[in-house]
Amino acid sequence: MKSQVRVLVIGGGVVGCSVLYHLAKLGWTDIALCERKELTAGSSWHAAGMFHALNGDATMSRLQSYTIGLYRELERFSGQDIGLHYTGGLNVAATAERWDLLRADCERHRVLGLDTTLLSPGEVAERFPLMDVSDVKGALFDPMEGYLDPYGATIAFAKAARRLGAEVYRHTRVTALTFGPRRSWTVTTDQGSIEAEHVVNAGGLWAREVGHLAGVELPLVPMEHHYLITEDIPEIAQLGRELPVVVDLDGEMYLRPERHALLLGVYERDATPWSRDGTPWTFGDNELLPPQLDRLTDSLEKGFRRFPRLNTTGIRKIVNGPFTFTPDGNPLVGPVPGLRNFWSACGVMAGFAQGGGVGKTLAEWMTAGEPECDVFGLDVARFGPYATRDYVAVKSSEFYSRRFRIAYPNEFWPAARPAKVTALHNLLQADNGVFGVSYGVETALFFAPKDQLPHEAPSLRRSNAFEHVAEECRAARSTAGILDCSTFAKYEVSGKGAHEALDRLLAARLPEPGRIRLTPMLAASGRLMGDLTTLCLAEDRYLLFGSGYLQNWHMRWFAEHFADTGASVHNRTEETAGIAIFGPNSRDLLSQMSREDVSDGRMPFMTFRHLDVAGAPALVARISVTGELGYEIYVPAMYLAPLYERCRAVGSRLGLRGVGTYALNSLRLEKGYGYWSREYSRDYTPIMSGLSRFVDYEKRAFVGRDAALRERDTPPAMRLVTLEVDALDAEASFYEPVSVRDKVAGFVTSGGFGHCVGKSLAMAYVDRSDIASREPLEVSIIGDRRSCRVLDAPAIDPEGLRLRS
Ligand SMILES: Cc1cc2nc3c(=O)[nH]c(=O)nc-3n(C[C@H](O)[C@H](O)[C@H](O)COP(=O)(O)OP(=O)(O)OC[C@H]3O[C@@H](n4cnc5c(N)ncnc54)[C@H](O)[C@@H]3O)c2cc1C
Repeated sequence: MKSQVRVLVIGGGVVGCSVLYHLAKLGWTDIALCERKELTAGSSWHAAGMFHALNGDATMSRLQSYTIGLYRELERFSGQDIGLHYTGGLNVAATAERWDLLRADCERHRVLGLDTTLLSPGEVAERFPLMDVSDVKGALFDPMEGYLDPYGATIAFAKAARRLGAEVYRHTRVTALTFGPRRSWTVTTDQGSIEAEHVVNAGGLWAREVGHLAGVELPLVPMEHHYLITEDIPEIAQLGRELPVVVDLDGEMYLRPERHALLLGVYERDATPWSRDGTPWTFGDNELLPPQLDRLTDSLEKGFRRFPRLNTTGIRKIVNGPFTFTPDGNPLVGPVPGLRNFWSACGVMAGFAQGGGVGKTLAEWMTAGEPECDVFGLDVARFGPYATRDYVAVKSSEFYSRRFRIAYPNEFWPAARPAKVTALHNLLQADNGVFGVSYGVETALFFAPKDQLPHEAPSLRRSNAFEHVAEECRAARSTAGILDCSTFAKYEVSGKGAHEALDRLLAARLPEPGRIRLTPMLAASGRLMGDLTTLCLAEDRYLLFGSGYLQNWHMRWFAEHFADTGASVHNRTEETAGIAIFGPNSRDLLSQMSREDVSDGRMPFMTFRHLDVAGAPALVARISVTGELGYEIYVPAMYLAPLYERCRAVGSRLGLRGVGTYALNSLRLEKGYGYWSREYSRDYTPIMSGLSRFVDYEKRAFVGRDAALRERDTPPAMRLVTLEVDALDAEASFYEPVSVRDKVAGFVTSGGFGHCVGKSLAMAYVDRSDIASREPLEVSIIGDRRSCRVLDAPAIDPEGLRLRS
């Protein structure tokens, strides 16, 4: 064993071996992996080995597709048989809603480059004669699905890594981790210690424990999972061909051929975390858990109905094994916030579908400073302190039990709620608010009429919220609206050197004292890293607003960039709460709550002032994402409820109405304003997204400047546009293709109904040449193509007169 390495990967499951391989492939030498037992000794050895590219999350789909495509090359390069079976896969729908969803998915796959097709029930029966298709609506067929030998795949990654110079130390357990004065990790193992510049936690079932060695709590928990293998079935032997793998989505089970038998796995509703408080170090020498068949009865009944031959076939083997889940089912990848050079590659629930992509992503991040594409959906920084152990156990169990259930775009699952509320929660509830959740915090989506239950029916189409949201939008544009904006992130950057540090980090010019600017932030690659709003409080003191759910992500970025600059950053989100008021009467409303002159002359657009508002010490910023005259009023959190109540009382004479985030979405779409994770993300650049108008290209130095200048000289093919869509009863939502004569010309980033303009709207990245050609465009909505056209200007108030009124 070496005494010093550049990277030490902890864990020899499929994920750790994939990380090692990808680091070596990207040219890093002096890298090693420690495995406490034999390779695969955690979850990897007992996996069912199925793989598929389909995933509701487009980033995960891409990474899964990469993983699947990699195996042939890996087999060839490593010389290790992986037992690959590309059988193709049937994703079966037995309800009309599911069929809608598959039709929508099939269209989205055109954007992702996946070659899926829709099959009729007859075609499903032809491909899988042992299936009862009497209630089947159809299936989505993916030719790239199949299964492999999990042991072979893991060993192949390890062998390939070794061929490229990496080392693997088996029977070497990491027992302690210390970050030392030499800015490297001292890794203590039961075979001696190693000095490592970087450490990767790929501890799988023990990833929490490995996290504890470094002093962090990672949000994952192992869950028990069963599959059964039947006795041989003569009909399968007689087929003379291999059956495809199947996911019976409404039956919540998966199935694959196992020679002449079948392997059937179930995601039972009665999900059980395993070793909730810690995985014993003694577990895992090819160890399984005792089967709990009584928990599976309901699921198995469904399976036996779908595959009737199982009723007369014996069970040869039952496997109950643990593997890890996170609250949203996605892996935990990237630099762990608060630690230096400590990387996460864990929480991977489908290692054989996702492990390759996770390894590639992490290796790119480590070697190049950032991954190739936006991976926020699997970033370890996407969770915050609300993800306590209890939260993680409850929410991960919920994810497990809903693994194949339809996740509606307007649905917020109930477990572990409310975890966090703002000071207005009870008041908004009393107003019949219907709540969603973001970064653990309950957020009002819309307000139901007093005589109705505060509830929204999950749906792919327009829901019962539609009319109520319309009223909120109309109030916002004709009288006034009020919204709890406490969840917006607020960062204070201060200290000697704050101006220089921020000026370097933000791609825009910094505002003067008392003024506000929209300030995009770029990564070194020139891709977007933030769409922040910056207020200059004083020389060397700034306040930055951003999306609330990005707090951990942004704080990690700030910590990285402000080190040694003299600037310090404080996250003020929880201690500072706020309300936004907007609409033509909002100035009247503010002036009735403050003794100060708030006229346009004294308080123009994009300025802020410290005022007493309804007796509360407030920072009032004249900005509004609605595109209306409006103000965001921030106060210490304890002042918020009285401020809100006073505002409602005064506002009752001015037509003030409570507004939720659904209405906000409609209003901002009418203005063509983008949202982070939709129109703006690390997948896009300033020119593509239109944020270039805020970039100060003349500035001498800022992160991403060189790439931004290159981009300005050679603009990318796609650009962000707003589309008016001839929709019927549903809006575009995310990642639907925009087509020109059946060719994919772009994709939707978000959609909604513009209630004040009476149009279905979508924002989309579309190829410039297709826009210029003026050929008819179509956008797919729930599988149906609808005509649409690019708007040359925002759907409402193109000159921005309302905002500046
Ligand atoms: C019953 C079942 C069926 C499954 N079916 C599928 C399927 O069909 N398809 C699919 O894609 N996935 C499937 N999975 C999930 C899959 O097994 C996991 O996603 C995958 O194995 C996770 O790999 P990993 O490398 O993250 O973790 P692990 O396999 O748990 O590997 C972690 C490794 O780290 C080592 N380690 C931990 N701590 C230390 C330490 N301190 N020092 C040194 N070494 C350490 C452990 O010994 C272990 O070998 C299934 C899982 C189960 C239980």
